[in-house]
Amino acid sequence: MNDARTQLEHLPGIKLDEPLAAHTTFQVGGPASYFISSNDVPVIQKAVQLAAKAGLPVAALGGGSNVLVADAGFAGLIVQLTSTYCAVHPDGTVVADAGTVLSRVVRSAISANLTGIEFAVGIPGSFGGGLAGNAGTGGHGIAEYATQVTYLNAKGELRTCPRAELDVSYRYTRFKYANAEIILSGTLQLATGTPTAIQALVREAVERRSWQPKGAWCAGCVFKNPSGGHAGKIIEQAGLKGKKIGGAMVSTDHANFVMNTGTATAEDIVILISYVKQQVRDQLGVQLEEEVRYLGFDSKPSP
Ligand SMILES: Cc1cc2nc3c(=O)[nH]c(=O)nc-3n(C[C@H](O)[C@H](O)[C@H](O)COP(=O)(O)OP(=O)(O)OC[C@H]3O[C@@H](n4cnc5c(N)ncnc54)[C@H](O)[C@@H]3O)c2cc1C
Repeated sequence: MNDARTQLEHLPGIKLDEPLAAHTTFQVGGPASYFISSNDVPVIQKAVQLAAKAGLPVAALGGGSNVLVADAGFAGLIVQLTSTYCAVHPDGTVVADAGTVLSRVVRSAISANLTGIEFAVGIPGSFGGGLAGNAGTGGHGIAEYATQVTYLNAKGELRTCPRAELDVSYRYTRFKYANAEIILSGTLQLATGTPTAIQALVREAVERRSWQPKGAWCAGCVFKNPSGGHAGKIIEQAGLKGKKIGGAMVSTDHANFVMNTGTATAEDIVILISYVKQQVRDQLGVQLEEEVRYLGFDSKPSP
């Protein structure tokens, strides 16, 4: 086991105790014991295999725009893929590597007059992160268009997941909580559209996110919308807009956004999230569930 750790430490590109705050849009979180940011799949594969041998937890990180990393950091291996390959084919398939920014995939599809994923215009982060969490708006999610995903399993073996096994639902796929499985690339199947109709959908998507706080340190919507409701409206109804704990604050623009006002710790953010859940449950009888992913917390913070 120690052998595996030593080999991991000496793998090309491995960083030790890499601060994760700089890799997340919340701008909080402690160090990852082992961190690799690379477009070299065999090296990533080796890193995952060595981490598995050493019994270390493994997690992927894309743009860090949907995660909250603990102040203590992540006692394992964080993998960040940097390959930015994206190709659009005449049959309407779009093949992209996980490290490609989602906006590039969306733009490439739109430029080729392919329709379906215009709703994703403006969603930050990587294609891999978008697939893992089925990122989207309204009733749509990017993973609904995936026909297959290639990934490394927990042992570092290359695998393909066909659409039927993705287990796609609202802001969820089988990869969302499967920390040790790393998406390498994905294929989307889109339909051909007309430029006018596509541009109308793009305008709609841009309009839909005009309310979002600009340039804020946050991770987008913290909570999933409960069935039949809007988490932001529910939190506002509970009188929690502007509620502050330490350096964390419920946005005054949109109550489903929790912001780091500049001095927040991950603990401030977690306590505020727990407080919001408890208040909403006590006042309105609604149980909110996080959309944001926790990394490095021993267990999920309080219900
Ligand atoms: C201003 C703002 C607006 C946002 N608006 C939206 C929105 O409209 N709709 C929406 O859905 N989201 C939104 N988000 C949240 C976020 O941008 C999306 O969830 C995005 O898809 C996350 O991608 P990422 O690469 O940043 O993933 P990360 O935050 O890095 O990771 C998120 C999860 O995916 C996993 N993951 C990442 N890469 C991989 C991989 N290669 N293989 C396996 N698992 C992986 C991580 O382990 C983690 O569990 C917003 C965020 C911000 C800051």
